[in-house]
Amino acid sequence: MKILIADAFDASLPGRLKPFGEVTDDANQLPSANVVLIRSKTKATREYLDRAPALKMIIRGGVGLDNVDQEYAKQKGIRVLNTPAASSVAVAELAMAFLVAIPNRLIDGHCTMKEGKWAKKELKRTELFQKTLGLIGVGRIGTEVALRAKAFGMRVIAFDKYVSSSPHAEMVPLSALVAQADFISLHTPLTDETRGMVNAELIGKMKRGVILVNTGRGKVVNEPDLAAALASGQVRAYGTDVWESDPPPPASPLLSAPNVFMTPHIGASSQENLLRIGDIIVEILSEHYGRK
Ligand code: NAD
Repeated sequence: MKILIADAFDASLPGRLKPFGEVTDDANQLPSANVVLIRSKTKATREYLDRAPALKMIIRGGVGLDNVDQEYAKQKGIRVLNTPAASSVAVAELAMAFLVAIPNRLIDGHCTMKEGKWAKKELKRTELFQKTLGLIGVGRIGTEVALRAKAFGMRVIAFDKYVSSSPHAEMVPLSALVAQADFISLHTPLTDETRGMVNAELIGKMKRGVILVNTGRGKVVNEPDLAAALASGQVRAYGTDVWESDPPPPASPLLSAPNVFMTPHIGASSQENLLRIGDIIVEILSEHYGRK
């Protein structure tokens, strides 16, 4: 069996996979690969799958499968698996990092001091305590964020189209969530329903000065609409790990906006998570193929 490691995983993974067969990270070997391991970078499109006649299995180390043409893979008899539970804590901690850093002016304080400025008077902080956090999507990651936000004394409300109750958040309709939340954190998958869901209409119903955090998927937000809301002050700040495209085009209005705080899609990239993902991949391969 040949395993192609197409994207970045923990450095220990190739060694751990050796008992299953030949392991390579050479993308040119796609035509003879039986298993391909991907994260976000590789797009397993129809064209990609057509270049892989020997392929039997794709394992996506992570949650979303929006970078795999699942329908076409199924037609070709290629099994598509992911590691959905591994990343919840890693992503939730990044969402919390944005939720803590932005109102506490951590990044502004750091950057102004690096520029030799002493902005003590200008940098007014806002506490999370007793503020309302609205979660859009309260699955695995949203739930981990709810638990952490409660430890900060926040009131946590949530809207989820497919979940009607949560032990950790008060479920409300979307209209109530946007009307009440001081902070909104996005945790839905990218689907036809969620694509562009955060658009000018929805943003217009949010509290003026809301802080929005996105560690879900960039395309859930209509970026031009958001850029306009950031310029007008309707949205006070946007913290994002995810983009309409990875990386965003240099002309993206979000890159130059002073009130956007950003990371390059590293939500799942904690050392601990990459090890957990490796453990699950080893489990999957043991279950389906056994060691050689
Ligand atoms: P999950 O499936 O456990 O939770 C997603 C929730 O969204 C579900 O409860 C679902 O009912 C809800 N949902 C679906 N459609 C909805 C809609 N139209 N409106 C409201 N809610 C809706 O998934 P998860 O593990 O919590 O992951 C959530 C998303 O986070 C993933 O799909 C992925 O896109 C993203 N993610 C990002 C990173 C990163 O690196 N930043 C890493 C992992 C996952």
